[in-house]
Amino acid sequence: MQPTTELTDYMGIKSLLSDEEKLVQQTAREFVNREVMPIIDSYAQEEKFPAHLVKTMGGLGFLGPTLPEEYGCAGLSNVAYGILMYELERGDSAIRSFASVQGSLVMYPIFTYGSAAQKAHWLPKMAAGEAIGCFGLTEPDFGSNPAGMRTRAVRNSDATWTINGAKMWITNGSIADVAVVWAMTEDGVRGFLVPKDTPGFTSVRMKGKWSLRASVTSELILDNVVVAEDEAMLPLAKGLKAPLSCLTQARYGIAWGALGAADNCYQTALAYALQRVQFDRPIAGFQLQQRKLAEMVTELTKGQLLVLQLGRLKDAGTYTPAQVSMAKMNNVKVAMDIAHMARTMLGANGIMGEYPIMRHANNLESVYTYEGTHDMHTLIIGQEVTGIAAYR
Ligand SMILES: Cc1cc2nc3c(=O)[nH]c(=O)nc-3n(C[C@H](O)[C@H](O)[C@H](O)COP(=O)(O)OP(=O)(O)OC[C@H]3O[C@@H](n4cnc5c(N)ncnc54)[C@H](O)[C@@H]3O)c2cc1C
Repeated sequence: MQPTTELTDYMGIKSLLSDEEKLVQQTAREFVNREVMPIIDSYAQEEKFPAHLVKTMGGLGFLGPTLPEEYGCAGLSNVAYGILMYELERGDSAIRSFASVQGSLVMYPIFTYGSAAQKAHWLPKMAAGEAIGCFGLTEPDFGSNPAGMRTRAVRNSDATWTINGAKMWITNGSIADVAVVWAMTEDGVRGFLVPKDTPGFTSVRMKGKWSLRASVTSELILDNVVVAEDEAMLPLAKGLKAPLSCLTQARYGIAWGALGAADNCYQTALAYALQRVQFDRPIAGFQLQQRKLAEMVTELTKGQLLVLQLGRLKDAGTYTPAQVSMAKMNNVKVAMDIAHMARTMLGANGIMGEYPIMRHANNLESVYTYEGTHDMHTLIIGQEVTGIAAYR
């Protein structure tokens, strides 16, 4: 199937975008059609990350795009960032995950919590795609409850820190030049920048996933890793709220991104239904299939309006983390449902890599779980409306 040139726009959301936001959408769509669509099935089948795209994405301004131009970033609005994530995930969640981690989970904390020297050292390289980062919060025994983390950092008398522990499920882990590692200290959780060649630091790629196969997921091991305080510790990141603030940034992008995957599934199913003939007419002419298409486009459109309003609130500085939870929770579930409905419409062809649907459906299983599970976001909304935290 030929990649489409337009996003699904049932309610005219494009008319609500600025010229810059439209340009970002078009640039990202062309990049995905040209560079991602032709190769992504084979990379996913072979469990390979298309690393050759990283510098291209950097050159196009896709990495850390909301950060200021003085660091080589694009200084875009949050809505432009969202629409970029939508387009990247239309290609594959692995491509969007790479950009989310680089921008929201590594560049964002360096920009927000780092020293001037840390920003000057890392941000321009990361914006250009010349250095890759990863974000190590989750541990083998602590996922939804990162407050229990066992990774420990202890200050030495010579202004260095010794870090010990293990992190798991870390996107970009074994291709990263630097890891943002969150560790418990005497004063609570602190963040450290650990370059990949630091003695005692190792990363091991986790193989065998049935989801996000084109994304690198790794375990990080920190065995008496010694880092200098001025180079490594993020001076302004104090307490668990620092990593959680990074997750809010990334979740915002995911809420947009998941809809990109859904859009690709919807458009694939629509095109297929219009040309696939059974009982002497296109299956698009049968009421049962039309119901699926109507439900898909309705939920996709509702999700678009939700993230567009969230993006406007974020640009105005008035959004809340619980609003981000609502968008992440709703839009990922909507995307999964759309992918599953689309899969049924293609019959046997729906399971083949020639079509993107099964790949998206499997990817979305990870997206449902990472960056706060669907359940955890449900409980955050529950807490927001009742005032009672049901998760602890
Ligand atoms: C492909 C992939 C990439 C990832 N990338 C990263 C990364 O780059 N960096 C990083 O730090 N982490 C990463 N993660 C980890 C991810 O954030 C965690 O998997 C997620 O937070 C859930 O943690 P867990 O898997 O340990 O599940 P658990 O926390 O063990 O949860 C298991 C189940 O219990 C439910 N549950 C837990 N607590 C409660 C509660 N209080 N009430 C009700 N239900 C509850 C959950 O919703 C879930 O259904 C990644 C994960 C995947 C799959």
